[in-house]
Amino acid sequence: MAEPFHDNEAQERFELDVDGVIAFVTYRKSPGAITLVHTEVPSALGGRGIGSKLGRATLEAVRAQGRKLTVECDFIRNFMKKNPEYNDLLAEGADAQDEPAASYKASCFCGAVEVEVTGKPVFAGFCHCADCQAWSAAPVNAFSLWKSDSVRVTKGDGEIGTFNKTEHSYRKFCKTCGGHVMTDHPRMRLVDVYANLLKGYEHTPTLHVNYESKTLSVKDGLPKYRDLPSELGGSGEKLPD
Ligand SMILES: [Zn+2]
Ligand SMILES: [Zn+2]
Repeated sequence: MAEPFHDNEAQERFELDVDGVIAFVTYRKSPGAITLVHTEVPSALGGRGIGSKLGRATLEAVRAQGRKLTVECDFIRNFMKKNPEYNDLLAEGADAQDEPAASYKASCFCGAVEVEVTGKPVFAGFCHCADCQAWSAAPVNAFSLWKSDSVRVTKGDGEIGTFNKTEHSYRKFCKTCGGHVMTDHPRMRLVDVYANLLKGYEHTPTLHVNYESKTLSVKDGLPKYRDLPSELGGSGEKLPD
């Protein structure tokens, strides 16, 4: 008979076989590292401490394999809180996931509209497109792009006006003061909250986009994309500073 606990690499999961019923932890491996993604203990096994047994066996296996650990799974995260002897397995910085994600507030010019973002932006940089220039009446727009579900309106929802010239960008502003707040990019499922409005947030730009339309050169050494990087659906082509 096979060991009750084993690493099923074909299915990318650690399995614990309890009388023919399998509880498991799914993972992604890369050389020297592992991310624990999700734990499932069938309800038939509930109330027998199987989850803890599986958690312990999984973390022992990670230790035996000498892999640096990242945890996406809430179950394992909670298990590790109760069993801190496994914390040394965590990859550098991975334990930061344990801390509540930071959130930042942005408000319009008059303060009637308030938006909150949580976590970290997916991209942060500067946009030089003609639309951003025309809408903001400024040469460059400092953007921070967040996943739609990490952005929420905390005040003045009814005060928000929306204008879209294209299907890509729904630009949102305060109807009272005209201050710009954010741009929804539904196709990318990302929302650009204007970096300068976010209080306490440190804008850490990593790129310039739509540099082909620039009216201002910025010699900061960051990559200058002609349009957009390929991850955002662009050509990925770069231009000189
Ligand atoms: Zn306002
Ligand atoms: Zn733009």
